[in-house]
Amino acid sequence: MASNVTQDAKRVSYDTPAGRMSIPKSIVARIDRDDFSYSPGASASSQPPISPPSIEPVHGYEDVAHLTVHDDAIDFAYLAKLETDARSGSDAAVAKAAAAHFFAAQFLIGKGDMGAAADHYRQALIFAPNNLGLLLNLAVLELRESQFTQALDPLEHARRVVPASGLEAAAIAKLMGWAYYGLNKMDRAIEEWKLSEQLHPDPQVEQALAKAQRDQAEEESYREGETVHFSLKYYGGAAPDLARGILRALEDDFRDLESQLDYTPPAQISVVLYTEQAFADITRAPGWAGAVYDGRLRIPVQGLASVTPDLARVLKHELTHSFITQKSRGRAPTWLQEGVAQWMEDRRSSAAAGALIDVVGRGSMPSLASLEASWMAMPNDMVALAYQWSLAVVESMIQTGGMSDVSRLLDRIANAPSPESALRETLHSDYSDLEQQTIAYLKRSYLR
Ligand SMILES: [Zn+2]
Repeated sequence: MASNVTQDAKRVSYDTPAGRMSIPKSIVARIDRDDFSYSPGASASSQPPISPPSIEPVHGYEDVAHLTVHDDAIDFAYLAKLETDARSGSDAAVAKAAAAHFFAAQFLIGKGDMGAAADHYRQALIFAPNNLGLLLNLAVLELRESQFTQALDPLEHARRVVPASGLEAAAIAKLMGWAYYGLNKMDRAIEEWKLSEQLHPDPQVEQALAKAQRDQAEEESYREGETVHFSLKYYGGAAPDLARGILRALEDDFRDLESQLDYTPPAQISVVLYTEQAFADITRAPGWAGAVYDGRLRIPVQGLASVTPDLARVLKHELTHSFITQKSRGRAPTWLQEGVAQWMEDRRSSAAAGALIDVVGRGSMPSLASLEASWMAMPNDMVALAYQWSLAVVESMIQTGGMSDVSRLLDRIANAPSPESALRETLHSDYSDLEQQTIAYLKRSYLR
């Protein structure tokens, strides 16, 4: 129990049997404003800042392209015929089968079906195992899906089949660096990007290298911990007990989110604990930002010795963002992100219901469409309202159709043209229906 609680602009202080403690107000106030940089069809903020190399896997197979994909579908009968021909052994037939699977993969990427696309790349590689373009295309696809360990396979193979110097080797090193960066292996990432720069200077690699070196310089003085699903780094000054407590809490949260959202993130999730100053330096986030999820969970913990209830909520909240970002491929709108994250940390709308109904009644509530993009530039009072409204909307969805509705919606958002079209396809309602349903829910549940 805390006693003699005081607060100033940035910190909340209180007396404990162990002495006076203080924690960043941002943890207490829970205004976190993570920046997901939502943009339709674009890359998520969790994705590495690197674009794929332009190495064309197949040339001169226009006829095969048209026969493989026509009338907005893959011609599987044609594919099967090419495979049969290829087994008879002629080089031309084998190359044709590889090209056809490549075109099928390209078509599926256009449709947003990345899993099936990867399968076709792998099929193509059965026929053309040393095709550099195919290997790199598969690697890029896996990197984009955060499958960093899997991405190393085609890259290592590619490295064995091309000369160790030149543009192609530079492209391989660039992607290798990306995979290691995703795996939180900063030394290896830096090594690869330096090599890539040596072989062929590239502004993207230069930028990524600078960021990795900044991270590394900061994290060199950090200790590490690891569990099945998390790799944790923390500053030597932080208590090891706190680090262990955080990992335990995160593992519990992981199991809970896994079953509630029906999703398992494919790779280990990186967590970095910061003292407050280090946090501001490394994230370049504004002074008011609390914890941040930008592909890694970055949590400021200065002054904490154990997992307090407030810290536990922060962890659950940020981990929820990680799950949602990955499940929706970075395409979940901010209102849905923040609504579900608050629901998962056990916030409910009881205290805010009256005010929300009032604001909507006056016609001053921002539309859900306007809450899709980042909230980073919003005025403070608007942000507070946006958090409360997002929670209310998600709460009404869950109380109406259960968590499975949210789960299906997230899956659909990953591939749909817009969040609202995903809503129409899964829950058969649009934003205006959802807003009305939320108001009815708030009145029914809280205003009796
Ligand atoms: Zn959040």
